[in-house]
Amino acid sequence: MINAEMFGYGSEKSSIREIAAYAAGRKAALGADKVFDFSLGNPSAPAPDEVRASIERALTLPSMALHGYTPAIGLPEARQAVAASLNRRYGVDYSAADLFLTAGAAPALAATFRALTEPGQSEIIVIAPYFPEYKLWIEAAGARCVEVLADEETFDIDVDAVAAAITAKTAAIVVDSPNNPTGKVYPEATLRALGRALDEAERRFDTKITLVSDEPYREITYGCVVPWIPSIHDRTVVTYSYSKALSLPGERIGWVCVPPTHPEHDEVYAAVAGASRILGHVCAPSLFQRVLIDCVDVPADVEAYAENREALTRGLSEAGYSYVEPDGAFYLWVRALEPDANAFFERAKALELLPVPSHSFGCKGWVRVGYCVPYSTIVDSMPAWRKLAESYA
Ligand code: PLP
Repeated sequence: MINAEMFGYGSEKSSIREIAAYAAGRKAALGADKVFDFSLGNPSAPAPDEVRASIERALTLPSMALHGYTPAIGLPEARQAVAASLNRRYGVDYSAADLFLTAGAAPALAATFRALTEPGQSEIIVIAPYFPEYKLWIEAAGARCVEVLADEETFDIDVDAVAAAITAKTAAIVVDSPNNPTGKVYPEATLRALGRALDEAERRFDTKITLVSDEPYREITYGCVVPWIPSIHDRTVVTYSYSKALSLPGERIGWVCVPPTHPEHDEVYAAVAGASRILGHVCAPSLFQRVLIDCVDVPADVEAYAENREALTRGLSEAGYSYVEPDGAFYLWVRALEPDANAFFERAKALELLPVPSHSFGCKGWVRVGYCVPYSTIVDSMPAWRKLAESYA
């Protein structure tokens, strides 16, 4: 027998991956410089030199130390290094006991969703547009994914809409800032209002609602501050990844942080550990746990993305497109030139322009243009963007 649900997840590729696979085929047929693939969030900045130096140092360790199992929660030195970095940056007082190292943000989220819900009984709220995999991980935990649209003008969280969507079954809400796909960084005032709405709903329903802050793009910002949410709202769990900040998406390293200020710290931490265990986690990659010890404070190469952002926004403005001014991450959320983003995507595709239509992210009428690409891709794509706009004139 085969599990029908799993068969469905496995045989239906994510639309982002499908577009990326299509782009690879077109590049093979036409030449890489003739196809403008803006689909995947694969960082284009190289991993920092400090990472290479750290790997080289680690390679001199005895085999068991380098390649052996680590504790499931991660090496104490690596967790301590992360805690110390958070303490320095956000003025908090965390320890190794608050960190659980994972193979990136994906398993961190899958475990967190499983840890916070009861199959068939719980709901998790996501703010649309949202990273599409959230829905799969929520549903795989047996919970219901409840989509709440962001404010359609600013793409900030619509706190009143969130409050209206909370029920007695709401176990968690996911916040992703800087946001994939809009690039929005949620202001502190919004997060405070959201915290108040969650407190109020907890009193109303006599429940506990965790704010899950998914932050793989925290380090990639263009001059704005990303608030540290656990300092605003106690019942918060943070998931993080070095995929974007250190350009290490293939190496799989990240963490779940259950801050000591979380009112059910020990229970939530144990439940995350338990959920990870049943999902097949053994330990995060040992080599990259060691890299964290050396590189936890190495800054992201934001400059490369800032140049791309500037060239893309300038070019698209001149061609008549409107978009959400991105505060962070490396995505531009561009309004489609017709209400049906899929139809717009098909016209773009005919010009070898490959953004991702917004239905993949749970909303209508937009496309996501990933600018984690070579600068030349942005410059060379401009005639095609202009031609696409002219086709609507
Ligand atoms: N969360 C968001 C918002 C993402 O965009 C991604 C990856 O693109 C992930 C989580 C998963 O990241 P990781 O590579 O660490 O699993």
